[in-house]
Amino acid sequence: MVEPIQKTPTRRPDQHKCPHPLCNRNVSRGFLACRAHWSQVPRPLREAIYATVGTDRQAYAGHVAEVEEIWVAKAEAKLAKAGAAPADRK
Ligand SMILES: [Zn+2]
Repeated sequence: MVEPIQKTPTRRPDQHKCPHPLCNRNVSRGFLACRAHWSQVPRPLREAIYATVGTDRQAYAGHVAEVEEIWVAKAEAKLAKAGAAPADRK
């Protein structure tokens, strides 16, 4: 077993972690991600998520995976702009 390096903040039972790979914010149940990261999700994808949440688990999971890809691409673009290699990040 590998011990988690990053300590997770205290979270209420009605909260979950923002699914953004670089984010550790608490998000209330009923929201996919924290405000900052939800705002990065393109509108058509947001609507697709609203349309499938609670009704089509498989499609919903696909949309969430798409959102995560967008976040990773954005985070990498930001790091590249700052001149830091993503691989060097811990
Ligand atoms: Zn977040």
